[in-house]
Parts: sequence; structure tokens; C-alpha cells
Amino acid sequence: MKLNINTIDFRGSIVDGPGVRTVLFTQGCNRRCKGCHNPSTWDKERGKWIEIKEIIKQLREECKNQKLTISGGEPLLQIEGILTLIKNLPDFNITLYTGYSIEEVPKELLNHLNYIKVGPYEEEKKTTIIPYIGSTNQKFINLKNQNNSNKKTKVQ
Ligand code: SF4
Repeated sequence: MKLNINTIDFRGSIVDGPGVRTVLFTQGCNRRCKGCHNPSTWDKERGKWIEIKEIIKQLREECKNQKLTISGGEPLLQIEGILTLIKNLPDFNITLYTGYSIEEVPKELLNHLNYIKVGPYEEEKKTTIIPYIGSTNQKFINLKNQNNSNKKTKVQ
């Protein structure tokens, strides 16, 4: 099985979830949010299809702290591949960014994640002061603490 990806950034991000994180950007998004920071990820024809076992190998070799964020694009457009990926990384701390609401995210996926950012980007609600989200309609949820408030999200 393959995933259509834009890139894997191993440089270490501090804005895509708690800690220093490797970020995997999936390719393809239908939402076309005004002000989107990643419009190069919209067109699914412009991605690279990579075998999931190859992605896992790269992550195990280069993501030494095992903190991974899956972003996009819209990862949920490739839900089967994403589930296969994360089920093979049970020892990783995984955050997923999606434009979907929490009610629309499959429960099976939530069970395998540490954190999730939900909601589309809304430019008129842009924020630069709340950690890990781009607009105030979005939520960053710590799934392991059952703590669904942005204010109370524990930073590790
Ligand atoms: S959901 Fe994310 S990637 Fe898709 S258009 Fe909106 S901000 Fe961009």
C-alpha cells in the first residue's frame, strides 16, 4: 500500500504539536481554505506515491525522538493508508492535523493518536498566540488526557 505525500520534513518543527516534531505532509486537499499555508499540497496529481513500508523505514531511521505530525493536505482523504502507517508506529507519539471536525474523524484513528488538530483554517479567525492552531475555530486536542480544551492542553 502507498501514500500520496508532498514531503517529509525531518528538520524538527516546534509549531506542529508538543516538542520537536518530524512532519509528514500528505498530498491532496479539496477544501481550498482562503489563506491556506500549504496550497502546494492541494493538487493530488502533484504528489509522490511512496510505499508505506518505505515511509516507516525512513521514519525509524531519521525521526529519533519518535515524535511525528501528519499534516497536509488533508490526511483523512487517505484514511486507509494513514491507519496502516500509524498502526505500524505504535511506539511513536503521533499528532494529526485535519480540516474535519472531531465528530467526522473515525474512532479507530483517534484510538491511535496522541493529539489531533481539527477544523478548517478560517482566515478571519486567524490567531498567532494559541499554540498549534491557525484560527480560533480550530481545536488542538490531547487525546490521551481526555482533555479537550485548548487552554488546558498539556505541553510535553
Ligand atoms: S484544510 Fe488545510 S491544507 Fe486544506 S486548504 Fe484548508 S488549510 Fe489548506
